[in-house]
This record gives sequence, structure tokens and C-alpha cells, in this order.
Amino acid sequence: MTMIKSVCVYCGSSSRVDQAYKDAAVELGKSLAANNWDLVYGGGRVGLMGLVADSALSAGSKVVGIIPRHIQAREIEHTDLTELHIVDSMHIRKQMMVDRGDAFVILAGGLGTLDEFFEILTWKQLGLHDKPVVMVNINGYWDKMLEAIKFIADQKFMREEDLRMFQVVDTVAEVAQALTNAPHERFDPSTKWI
Ligand code: AMP
Repeated sequence: MTMIKSVCVYCGSSSRVDQAYKDAAVELGKSLAANNWDLVYGGGRVGLMGLVADSALSAGSKVVGIIPRHIQAREIEHTDLTELHIVDSMHIRKQMMVDRGDAFVILAGGLGTLDEFFEILTWKQLGLHDKPVVMVNINGYWDKMLEAIKFIADQKFMREEDLRMFQVVDTVAEVAQALTNAPHERFDPSTKWI
């Protein structure tokens, strides 16, 4: 069992996506609040990021946004958050998001979301944290990427057991249970390359 206070959500900044992904973002915000979890996210008001923040806020969660100065204009910082941190670089943002989150949820997203997902996994693979990571595979959005990761393990460029570093669920309704039941496992990097 994991004690969770804050959930860090990684998701797309695009607003031009199918309604199903937007609905999932809104549902996730409500679900965080229903579980008394705070939201930590990238601090913008655009795309799924803005939707999850608005939804969590209006359902009663505290919401912490962390946005780099140089993309503040592009992602339009959310000004109604419980806490908004404007930081100097992407690296500081990513580090703060990892530090402030007790668990991570990945919704649908683009390259930025992929980067964040792989960073949180590689850090876990290196034993730098042991926090739960749950990917929400709405309408099979991540299927091809999951296939690619499986192939990487088949080809022995990663360890088969490291596939356990994250859980995949098909719906937002399954997220809370997946987070709470996720094993708190510290992965041992010492055997990584053997
Ligand atoms: P995206 O999934 O591309 O819509 O981006 C989602 C979030 O990831 C946004 O807040 C972006 O600012 C952020 N992001 C975009 N590119 C990168 C990157 N190279 N590294 C880390 N985060 C990024």
C-alpha cells in the first residue's frame, strides 16, 4: 500500500484532440479530489493539462502548477491555482514535479508527455525513486508505445522485470485503485546491464 498525498499528472498540452481524451482529463481531476489527493502538474491552462487542473480545483483538490518562464506565454499559466511556481528551466520544473508528487499518472499526450514518462521510468530503473507510475491507456492510445517497450525488453535492452515499474489501466475509474495497490518496489540498478 502506498501513502499518497499528491499525484503528479503528465498529459498533453494540445486542445485539438478527441473529446474522449478531454473527458478522461476531467474525470481524473474529479477522481483525485474524491480521494483527497492534491494535483501536481505543469501549470498551464491549455489542453488536457488545463482541464485536469480546472476539474481537480473545482472538485476541491489543492493544485500545484510548475511552469518554466520561457514557456509561460505558450502554455498560458493557470492563475487560479493553489500554488503556481514559475521556474527558470525545464529541468527545474521536471525535478520539482518529481519531488512534489507521491505518485505519477500519465494520460494521453505528445512528445512532452513521452519525455516525462520515460524520465520517471528511467529514474525508477536507476533506483532514484520508488513511486507508483500508472499509465491510462484511453481507447488504446498508448498501445503502439507499449508494444515498443515490450520489444525493447524482448531484445534485452531492458530487463523483463523492469516492465513492472509501471501499471497500465484502460479507464480513469481504475486509476485510484491502481495507485493505491501499486507495489512500493525499489528497483535495483546494480544488475541493470548484466
Ligand atoms: P505535450 O505532451 O508535448 O503536449 O507536452 C506536455 C507537457 O510537457 C507540456 O507542459 C510541455 O511543456 C512539456 N514538454 C514539452 N516538451 C518537453 C520536453 N522536451 N521535455 C520535458 N517536457 C516537455
